[in-house]
Parts: sequence; C-alpha cells; structure tokens
Amino acid sequence: MNIYVIMKRTFDTEEKIALSNGRIAEDGAEFIINPYDEYAIEEAIQLRDANDGEVTVVTVGGEDSEKELRTALAMGADKAVLINIEDDVENGDQFTTATVLAKFFEDKEVDIILGGNVAIDGGSGQVGPRLAELLNIPYVTTITKLEVNGTSVRIERDVEGDSEVIETSLPVLVTAQQGLNEPRYPSLPGIMKAKKKPLEELELDDLDLEEDDVEAKTKTIEIFLPPKKEAGKVLEGELEDQVKELVALLHTEAKVV
Ligand SMILES: Cc1cc2nc3c(=O)[nH]c(=O)nc-3n(C[C@H](O)[C@H](O)[C@H](O)COP(=O)(O)OP(=O)(O)OC[C@H]3O[C@@H](n4cnc5c(N)ncnc54)[C@H](O)[C@@H]3O)c2cc1C
Repeated sequence: MNIYVIMKRTFDTEEKIALSNGRIAEDGAEFIINPYDEYAIEEAIQLRDANDGEVTVVTVGGEDSEKELRTALAMGADKAVLINIEDDVENGDQFTTATVLAKFFEDKEVDIILGGNVAIDGGSGQVGPRLAELLNIPYVTTITKLEVNGTSVRIERDVEGDSEVIETSLPVLVTAQQGLNEPRYPSLPGIMKAKKKPLEELELDDLDLEEDDVEAKTKTIEIFLPPKKEAGKVLEGELEDQVKELVALLHTEAKVV
C-alpha cells in the first residue's frame, strides 16, 4: 500500500510568539510537527503495519523542515521528501503549497494521502482539499476513524461534535481530527534508525515548475496579537447598590442589555 502523509512544520503555539514587522519572528521560536499531522503520521504507520506497504512523509518548506521530517521517520515513517522552495518562493500561500504537492504526486502511485485537518499557525484547512481537487480524488476532512478493506474505505468524521459515517474508495485523501488515535513518541531506537532512512530533497526545478506557476494568489496584509485582557471590575457596597450599578454598566459600558 502506498501511503503518503503531507505534513507541515509549524510554530509551537504553546510557546511565546513574538511579532516583528507584521510577521511572526522566527528567532527564538520553537518549531514542531503540526499536531494534527502527528495523528496523520500515526494513522499512516498503523495502516502500513496492518496492510504492508510504505509510509512516505512529504513537506513543502525550507531546509529547516528536515528536523520535523526526521522526527516523523523516528516515529516510524519509511521515507521522507523535502520539497525545498525557500530559495525560489518568497511569499507562498495555500495555492502555492497545493500546486507544488499536486505536481509532486502527479506521477506517483497513491493509495491514500493523510494530512492534518488544519495547521495551527496558518489555520486555513485548505491544503488537503485543494490537493485532492487538483489530483481529482475524493477527500474527507476531520476524520476520527478510518477502516480500509481492500479498496473500500469507511470513515467516521467529526461534525461539530456529532459523527458522520462516509464510505468511499481508494485512492482517497483524508485529514485528521483530534481523537483519531494517540500519536506515539519517537523511541530511542527509532531516532537512531531515522538517521539512516532516505530523505529526498527536491526543488521547483525537479518538479518542472517555474516560480510563476506557484506565485501566491493571496497577500497577508497584517498579523496582530489579540488585545490584552483588562482586569475585571469588582463592585462594592450594599448588594442592592451593586445590582443597580451592574445593570447600569451592562447598559452603558458592555452595551449588552
Ligand atoms: C518558502 C515559503 C514561503 C511562505 N511564505 C508565506 C507568506 O508570505 N505568508 C504566509 O501566510 N504563508 C507563507 N508560507 C506558508 C504557506 O502559506 C503555508 O505552508 C501553506 O499555505 C499552508 O497553509 P495553512 O497554514 O493554512 O495550512 P492548512 O491548509 O491549514 O493545513 C492543513 C494541512 O495541510 C498540510 N500542509 C499544510 N502546509 C503544508 C506544507 N507546507 N507542506 C506539506 N503539507 C502541508 C498539513 O497536513 C496540514 O495539517 C510560506 C511557505 C513557504 C514554504
């Protein structure tokens, strides 16, 4: 079975994020595999172990993404591909990423592509569905259960807390939701083995793409942090007076009544 995982290197949003010139400052930021992509990697490994075949993890990014690819190899993926576009593309967007990935997959025999439901930084949830559209294969998003039987696929997906059951067939692209599985941590032997596993590096040229073919269709105008929360107001005095003051404040300041 030819199993692919598309994965993204993201900022660790649990860590402090600083902005500089309207962009997230990379200096000092911590980077991780996008957490939803860890579910995708885990599911891919389980699928391979049950059906044989190979798991290949693919990322579109820069040289630094090698670290996250090696982590995926240490978890148990078999091969990694880094499509390094940082020297060719200054401003990329979801169109850029999906177009590059589609070109990569053009000549591949694919049974299933797994990705994350959403990247915790860019957060558009577009790359998976865009890629499936370009490859003209079915896709199912926010999946919480995956069963593959021959070429038949049965999927449960999260719909705002409820579940939807979908049947489709291979080849298919799915995007992982929290709850799909419990991603494993790379083991020490896994980390040692990962150093020797194949990691192929490609550039736009290798995919017969020109800079113009992947030029972003959107432009980020501004990025800003949410406003700091102000301290709450504590009312004092007699209970009756507090209630009057509260009602007045709800009218005049909060403007909710
Ligand atoms: C050289 C370069 C320059 C860039 N410049 C900009 C910029 O100027 N402004 C800007 O906003 N963004 C920029 N990006 C980031 C780029 O826009 C995002 O990687 C891409 O658009 C993903 O969008 P998203 O974060 O909304 O992902 P989502 O669509 O939310 O991601 C969903 C899923 O798609 C898959 N996926 C997402 N991104 C990738 C990826 N890169 N490789 C493999 N799989 C992926 C993962 O499985 C992920 O869980 C740049 C990226 C590169 C490599």
